[in-house]
Amino acid sequence: ALEVRLASRPKGWPAAENFEIAEVEVPAPAEGQILVRNLFMSVDPYMRGRMNDVKSYVPPYQVGAPLEGGAVGEVVASNSPDFAVGDHALHGLGWREYAVLDARFAAKVDGSVAPLSTYLGVLGMPGLTAYAGLLVTAEFKEGDAVFVSGAAGAVGQIVGQVARLKGASRVIGSAGSAEKVKYLTEELGFDVAFNYKDGPVAEQLAAAAPDGIDVYFDNVGGDHLEAAISSLNLNGRATLCGAISQYNATEPPKAPRNLFQLIGKRLTLRGMLVADHKDLQPQFVAEMGKWIASGELKYTETVVEGGVHQAADAFLGMLRGENTGKMLVKF
Ligand code: NDP
Repeated sequence: ALEVRLASRPKGWPAAENFEIAEVEVPAPAEGQILVRNLFMSVDPYMRGRMNDVKSYVPPYQVGAPLEGGAVGEVVASNSPDFAVGDHALHGLGWREYAVLDARFAAKVDGSVAPLSTYLGVLGMPGLTAYAGLLVTAEFKEGDAVFVSGAAGAVGQIVGQVARLKGASRVIGSAGSAEKVKYLTEELGFDVAFNYKDGPVAEQLAAAAPDGIDVYFDNVGGDHLEAAISSLNLNGRATLCGAISQYNATEPPKAPRNLFQLIGKRLTLRGMLVADHKDLQPQFVAEMGKWIASGELKYTETVVEGGVHQAADAFLGMLRGENTGKMLVKF
């Protein structure tokens, strides 16, 4: 079977040469293990950070070793009482056609309850990030005006809609194309959206939120964060979820330069990691499931076909903004 390995560590923007496809033997599952044939794998922004050899909240990928990440597949052999052949499993060994792992590191998922791909997106890690980051980290409350960057992505598309459903006074989003802006306002019910490539973020945000914002959900960092700090009202809160504008940067960011505004406006900027919010999972799935079933919450997936052969391209495409909603690779 085939797997995708890190061939070398990227400096700045990754390229095809940083990845290699290798053929490996698929072992039979040992005691307590399952063998999974992957059906979907996720490509996520955090994977760029794991390609660097630096200490972080997750260990770096190793050169010459297969990449890892969220995946859903079908159990084709089981040496565990917890999984039968034919069950579907959510696990952390994407980037390969077949995964062998301890059953305790896999979660059973049901394709008849929700499409299998959604366990990697709207009902999975990105969805929980949006839900927890808005409701817990930013302490969102009814009537807040909310701005989210990366708004047409996996996390962002959920943040804006949860804010709307929970009674935001105004939902504003930024994204990188006219089509995405249209998707936000015409499909997802954002009040206003703008293309950050059309002009300075600070000016576009000020125009979109003449009365300021109370919550900023940051997926981007840099000038987006600076603009949000300027637009945040007294006692405003920001969730620092990601800083994708900096993941491929080779120089330190030039913004934000206005942190002093935190003082007078008593702003709170708080970092979050989805892994800290596992306790919210049942509430999240119940509420999200209800909104999806009623049609009140919509989501998009960008699914790249071709399995391991297209995985690196899909990852690079996601970094360039080629996805709307969750970027996935189908095997
Ligand atoms: P997305 O689906 O949003 O995909 C990434 C998007 O980032 C692209 O589609 C692109 O859209 C946008 N982008 C790329 N470069 C830039 C740039 N320079 N400036 C502005 N936007 C850019 O990814 P996710 O929803 O999975 O992740 C969103 C953010 O959330 C990331 O920063 C990620 O690291 C973070 N995250 C954090 C977690 C946590 O626990 N803290 C968990 C999960 C995600 P566009 O066309 O709009 O440019």
